[in-house]
Amino acid sequence: MDVAGASAAAPRTGAIRLERISKRYRRGEAEVEALSDIDITIEQGHFVTLFGPSGCGKSTLLRIVAGLESQTAGVISLFGKTPAEASRRKHVSWVPQSPALLPWLSVLDNVTLSQRINRDADREPDPDRAPQDAREVLSEMGLAEFADARPTQLSGGMRQRAALARGFVLGAPLMLMDEPFSALDELTRDALGWHLLDVWERHRKTVLFVTHSAGEAVLLSDRVVVMTPRPGRVQDVIDITLPRPRPRDIAERHEFVELVLEVKKRLRGQR
Ligand code: ADP
Ligand code: MG
Repeated sequence: MDVAGASAAAPRTGAIRLERISKRYRRGEAEVEALSDIDITIEQGHFVTLFGPSGCGKSTLLRIVAGLESQTAGVISLFGKTPAEASRRKHVSWVPQSPALLPWLSVLDNVTLSQRINRDADREPDPDRAPQDAREVLSEMGLAEFADARPTQLSGGMRQRAALARGFVLGAPLMLMDEPFSALDELTRDALGWHLLDVWERHRKTVLFVTHSAGEAVLLSDRVVVMTPRPGRVQDVIDITLPRPRPRDIAERHEFVELVLEVKKRLRGQR
């Protein structure tokens, strides 16, 4: 067997594969090149973070993966499906920057909303998606007593925890999170990072997370993809080899601090 044939037949790893993704926007006469030749592979159950400055195309990339926008070039495979197909089957959940809860619904009704819409996707049993018990997930998020409350009765951090709960309740194998903590104060943000880690450890979904906080990226991730702007490119990929579950004092440990510095250095193009 010739070598080229063997390599073509070899299975490619990666539950999530983004290959040479580019995106150009038209702005009047001009074109904005938002993303250029992005290659990212994510193994099932891994937590991968896009880290980069504002404007480097992180949200654009997430919208493309979610099937909300199309790329100008490149191929995406989400567990062997296109983004459109994965989204139709509710295989992708989205945790936005602001919690986007409907004020007239209870917290419980909010977190089960995406299950109750597009029921076509639920006609046949789907071995790749397992909706979770909403009250249980709310309890994991520390919101057991607030299931019947309205979103206005919750603090900002609690609302964002409800938005995370909604993401997990859907049971989608891929979760996309676009700076879910960026609107919160630092203490609330730290607490939420730990909440997310605890719940993620129990569910082990594949996550593509976005942040421009190096500390958050290192705390949460198995791998950090460092991006640079205009056009957004992958500058570097850093494996985070810290133990899981993360020890509670991890942020004070030497190896954590080193990794945070490393991520920041790579962003500046240093090695
Ligand atoms: P990030 O999330 O990293 O801050 P974005 O993905 O929001 O970056 O934006 C990346 C680039 O693409 C920016 O230059 C932004 O102005 C541009 N952009 C994003 N969305 C659009 C759009 N709908 N039309 C034109 N340009 C856009
Ligand atoms: Mg963004």
